[in-house]
Amino acid sequence: MSSNAYPHLVKPLDFGFITLRNRVFMGSMHTRLEDEPDGMARLAAFYAERARGEAGLIVTGGFSPNEEGLLGPAGRVFNRSDQIPEHRSMVDAVHQADGKLCMQILHAGRYAKHDRIVGPSNIRSPINPRIPRPLSSDEVTQVIEDYAQCAVLAREAGYDAVEIMGSEGYFLHQFFAPRSNQRTDEWGGSLANRMRLPVEVTKRVRARLGSDFLIVYRISILDLVEGGNSGEEIVALARELEAAGANMLNTGIGWHDAPVPTIAYAVPRAAWQFAIRPLRQAVEIPLVLSNRINTPEVAEAVIASGDADMVSMARPMLADAHFARKVREGRADEINTCIACNQACLDYIFRDQVCSCLVNPYACHETVLTQAPAPARKKIAIVGAGPAGLATAIAAAERGHAVTLFEAGDDIGGQFNLARRIPAKREFNETLRYYRTMLRKHGVALRLGVRTESSDLAGFDEIVIATGVSGRTPAIPGIDHPTVLSYTEALTGAKPVGRRVAIIGMGGIGYDMAEFLCTPPVAEGERIRVFLEHWGVDPENRGPGGFLPGGIPKLQPAREVTMLQRKSERPGGTLGLTTGWVLKSEIARYGVRQVVGVSYEKIDDQGLHYRIQDQHHVLPVDSIVICAGQESVRGLYDELVAAGRRAHLVGGASKAAELDALYAIREGTQLGLRL
Ligand code: NAP
Ligand code: SF4
Repeated sequence: MSSNAYPHLVKPLDFGFITLRNRVFMGSMHTRLEDEPDGMARLAAFYAERARGEAGLIVTGGFSPNEEGLLGPAGRVFNRSDQIPEHRSMVDAVHQADGKLCMQILHAGRYAKHDRIVGPSNIRSPINPRIPRPLSSDEVTQVIEDYAQCAVLAREAGYDAVEIMGSEGYFLHQFFAPRSNQRTDEWGGSLANRMRLPVEVTKRVRARLGSDFLIVYRISILDLVEGGNSGEEIVALARELEAAGANMLNTGIGWHDAPVPTIAYAVPRAAWQFAIRPLRQAVEIPLVLSNRINTPEVAEAVIASGDADMVSMARPMLADAHFARKVREGRADEINTCIACNQACLDYIFRDQVCSCLVNPYACHETVLTQAPAPARKKIAIVGAGPAGLATAIAAAERGHAVTLFEAGDDIGGQFNLARRIPAKREFNETLRYYRTMLRKHGVALRLGVRTESSDLAGFDEIVIATGVSGRTPAIPGIDHPTVLSYTEALTGAKPVGRRVAIIGMGGIGYDMAEFLCTPPVAEGERIRVFLEHWGVDPENRGPGGFLPGGIPKLQPAREVTMLQRKSERPGGTLGLTTGWVLKSEIARYGVRQVVGVSYEKIDDQGLHYRIQDQHHVLPVDSIVICAGQESVRGLYDELVAAGRRAHLVGGASKAAELDALYAIREGTQLGLRL
């Protein structure tokens, strides 16, 4: 057991009146459990698991200080003492697990999705059709009191800290930024006036809580919107917040309506570290860096650099509740890493569904997806080491079953093994590392390079077929022309791809392929610089919002790419809710042509022939990459069933249409828990 590999990360942080056990700050997340009838009990289980996992400070989702500040009709307000008991269950559960819980106070302002929406001015947010009612000066004064009252209630409920949410374009941020504040009274106009509300809120909360209660203020250090704050203004606010009594500044990047990705997989790890440095020079209190810090290596490097004292990890705590504990116990290779896909967390939250995690289906389902030791140890054969087979194997082996995992290829991963080759999706490598470690740890017998026959499966108590999918080959005349290649061949480099390319199919893989083919190679050390340049971000954060003059630029593609689909509808509808726009923006800026409503006619030496209604077209291309969806590979299962044998079919082998890793892992885990 050694904690030496990450000495800065495991070091306690002592405020005198409270000591945090390490530098892992679990950032606030809305899980949508807040809106469920049994939500507080499920939240208690969710937070308690992260406390057992030794997160240094756990921040709750936001609670509003008044009705107007609610995010939506189903959100939670905390403004009466009779609401204290519902908080106690969470607080007690975390304390029993030796954790520390911080309640976030969040007023949504103009982001609110209800009729009582308020803000500094009557300027609506680009992502909300509702126009806020500007608060009168007296009402602003009342809101300060509401924050203070909410903080006092939090202390009475037993919380260890409060976080005042002042970033991401929420209410306090709306007062600070000229973009949303056009007031002419003492709450708007000059910098001093725009800072007044965040500062007065912090002062009042401090006055009510006394000097020995931890107050964290979450400040935006880079706005990434037009009319946002400049770096200079942000530093000025940080100084005032310190003077007003904040003990620690957590940081946020970008407004929710920012046209730049801030947490999606397209963002390199620790890409925003540059934005915190001016604060380090300006204030003495500890700083927390957030966004795209997902491994102990990155977290350790951030703290060791001196730029921050803690690292905020929100999604990584969904992916692995025991992140901090594994770091302390020298088991970092067992960490299930957040791959920044947003698929089961943010995409669910924005669809008003309870969130979870693609790589960890137990997240937010601690009370409904539970693991019990197997009543009897069975011999289980699993065929296929893609996401579904791996998830089944781990869930079954963790319960004590003897698992043998057969894989025809020379490595585990299945479709993951392809996805990881897309530069923006290199995080999938971490999932494969995690599975490799867990297979070893739980003694799963891995048989690689074995094309399993039904005769190999004799003597097992349970058989699971997770043979996955194979790319569909469309019936287009000339499909075997030398210019044609599968997406597997393109991604693995088994066949070279020319300069002028047609992509058949505009689903998720078609889009990924377009990005893959257009993006010039980037050296490892250049990744952050190139990312910032691609999105027009000023690494000096000089002007309003932090953009370079000229804004988000057009991009130079490595190839000339045309994407095609048969449907006439707008493409991209199946992409992830919170990541699809990033891909679409990049593809558009690379100048990729998109052609819809086509009928494919043939492929020959001239290129790809197609029709749109009565018009015949030829696309002269060097390569045609097929991304036309997938078909289930289930021959072995059908053979077993025909022979009267019982087997379970899971993942893509059971359902290819719209199947992705999220469903495969969840389905595999559920099966592993049932076996
Ligand atoms: P998909 O989303 O089903 O897309 C398949 C594409 O191929 C469609 O554009 C379809 O359009 C076309 N197609 C289907 N049958 C065809 C045929 N016989 N001939 C020619 N074209 C045909 O499948 P996918 O792209 O392989 O993705 C698989 C799953 O992974 C999906 O659930 C996807 O959402 C997910 N995924 C998502 C992402 C992401 O969000 N970034 C990335 C990768 C994968 P027409 O039928 O109109 O021609
Ligand atoms: Fe991370 Fe994806 Fe899990 Fe969200 S769903 S926590 S982004 S791995």
